[in-house]
Amino acid sequence: MAPATVEIGDLRAFALLQDVEPHILRALLEAADLQVLEPGTVLIQCGQMPPRLHFLLEGSLAVRLESAQSENVALVGPGESVGELSILDGNPPCAWVVAALPCRVLSLEEDTAWALTRDSHAFCLALLRKLSERLRANNITVETSVRQRRQAEEAALLDGLTGVRNRRWIEEQLPGLASESNDTMALALLDIDHFKRFNDTYGHQAGDDVLVGVARALEGQLRPSDVVARYGGEEFVVALPGEGAEGASIVAERLRRSIAALALQSRDGHSLPPITISIGLAFQQPGLACGALVAAADQALYQAKEGGRNRVVVAGAPLLA
Ligand code: GH3
Ligand code: MG
Ligand code: MG
Repeated sequence: MAPATVEIGDLRAFALLQDVEPHILRALLEAADLQVLEPGTVLIQCGQMPPRLHFLLEGSLAVRLESAQSENVALVGPGESVGELSILDGNPPCAWVVAALPCRVLSLEEDTAWALTRDSHAFCLALLRKLSERLRANNITVETSVRQRRQAEEAALLDGLTGVRNRRWIEEQLPGLASESNDTMALALLDIDHFKRFNDTYGHQAGDDVLVGVARALEGQLRPSDVVARYGGEEFVVALPGEGAEGASIVAERLRRSIAALALQSRDGHSLPPITISIGLAFQQPGLACGALVAAADQALYQAKEGGRNRVVVAGAPLLA
């Protein structure tokens, strides 16, 4: 560690002291206390009073939130200072600051730090600038964490394989979609026909590629306000908000045809044989729980399977022979 003497020139390295008048810096040096810290020494303890203002001359300080031993949230280098906030608002520090390397630190008592603000306009300006920088940095941190939280929330509602919404979305968000559309909403439950046989013949990976292809094709056929969700396995839900019986039947039939005509490809670019889907279609009604709506669509889907597959059955409609 370098000798324990500090010159006025050394203080010019600090943004806070850069423009402070020489006689004020001389007084600061007389009042300051020069500390040499071994790595691991705690400089600022969370909650400790009275506060002090520290200028790091040499070394590296780690800022830690949970305890003096927890992970670093920031590192402070030579030319930087710590402890300003507690001086300014009189509240105890809410973090630990620990020597990460051997350090030389110039420390000021609370009174001396306040004397600086009283005697030096340059110090006050530099302090304001530093606080503004910190506020901006905090804003960016808050924005980033809000964005990351939103992304995590959205990801939790998406199916990992196909990227469409998942079962959790159906359970948590479908009721909201129904009430937003004033209970005018059609719900189609789609199931790939003989998919077990497809997997057994072409392999599970090819089956996965089919699920992705079907999801993309469904999305490609729908309006932005419609929603495709994977109900589970090889079953999808398509919610058509604002759609009545006539329009929804046309959409469902269009979906069925488009899937039957789909030229499917495996992820390595090989053609896969065509597949078909069966669809059960049901309609939201005031007071009907979404679970009951899905159950009605499932019942219609069952009839579509019984009726020979590759067809649309509307819940409650008379079955054609
Ligand atoms: P049906 O026409 O009556 O619907 O016959 P099915 O064979 O499609 O229906 P079944 O319920 O007997 O089998 C569904 C199959 O779907 C079983 C499983 O092999 C396949 N499956 C479910 N989830 C996945 C998945 O994530 N990936 C793949 N590749 N296959 C899946
Ligand atoms: Mg199924
Ligand atoms: Mg099936």
